[in-house]
Amino acid sequence: MSRPEITTPESIADESVVELSLRPQRLAEFIGQGKVKDALRIYIDAATARREPLDHTLLFGPPGLGKTTLAELIAREMGVNIHTTSGPALEKPGDLVGTLTNLRAGDILFIDEIHRLRPVIDEFLYPAMEDWKIDIRLSEGPKAQTITMPIERFTLIGATTRLGMLTAPLRARFGIELRMNYYPPEEVEEIVHRTATVIGAGIDAGGARELARRARGTPRVANRLLRRVRDFAQVKAQGHISQDVAREALAMLDVDEFGLDEMDARILRAIIEKFEGGPVGVGTIAAAVGEDADTLEEVYEPFLVQHGFLQRTPRGRVATAQAFRHLGYAPPDAPQRDLF
Ligand code: ADP
Repeated sequence: MSRPEITTPESIADESVVELSLRPQRLAEFIGQGKVKDALRIYIDAATARREPLDHTLLFGPPGLGKTTLAELIAREMGVNIHTTSGPALEKPGDLVGTLTNLRAGDILFIDEIHRLRPVIDEFLYPAMEDWKIDIRLSEGPKAQTITMPIERFTLIGATTRLGMLTAPLRARFGIELRMNYYPPEEVEEIVHRTATVIGAGIDAGGARELARRARGTPRVANRLLRRVRDFAQVKAQGHISQDVAREALAMLDVDEFGLDEMDARILRAIIEKFEGGPVGVGTIAAAVGEDADTLEEVYEPFLVQHGFLQRTPRGRVATAQAFRHLGYAPPDAPQRDLF
């Protein structure tokens, strides 16, 4: 399915080099998420002083807020190696045997999108996380032989956009759970300035403020918008991003003043036009806008809910009066009918 470029969660291949240099190198350089950073600082210092690995850590929050970046920072602060994989990439326990047996004491195994792990892999991980051993099946079938192998004490860092999709036994095995929230505009502004310095883009305070306001509180979106706006400025404004240049470029990119992009607007419009404002199920909305339901729930919905455009109800999603007004429709008379 096509996804609008500015909110796509994954990084794009030709951006990976830039991504690397954009990532802060030390925890202190990581802008914002004060609560998460303070907590981590304590856990890291305590574990290091005891010469123990960090407890298994679960990072939770919408895409693009810095979960992968934090996992890498934790590894650097602890002075250990990090091995990265993701839930959908792991098909069978065998895919993890090599990695787990090669881990050195204290190393980190980072599993992105951990809520997408298959149940067999969940179960394979339990003894690894708890007792530092793995069970390897030597053959298939009911009489299959299993050998148990010890592994080093390691730290599993899981990242998820959907805490509710983790199984209870897996979630219970994480000693540390950290929730990341959308960044306030001041912090996104700082991130924009930092990224501008890294990529050598000329931006003034007004330009950065404008970008930050419309970046959905998400560093990845801010960085991506900055790159596109820089292109625009290079061609149309001698490379300088002022507030006006940012506004013009963002209008061209279909990012409105709330930071809603074309897909957000399509979602809200579909609910309003095709389903009379809702309630309507996520699957139905997804089909109406041609996006997959998971992406809708993980990427778009949290932002729309947090900013008062969308409500989740037991009977489905409902567009709020603010969404109606924002898109130029008259809100329904009995504003939010019997929702519950
Ligand atoms: P996630 O894993 O949560 O999807 P990433 O860690 O991949 O997010 O971050 C996305 C992008 O945003 C990266 O380029 C990263 O460097 C940048 N970024 C994220 N958080 C911050 C931050 N607090 N300060 C500076 N840059 C950040």
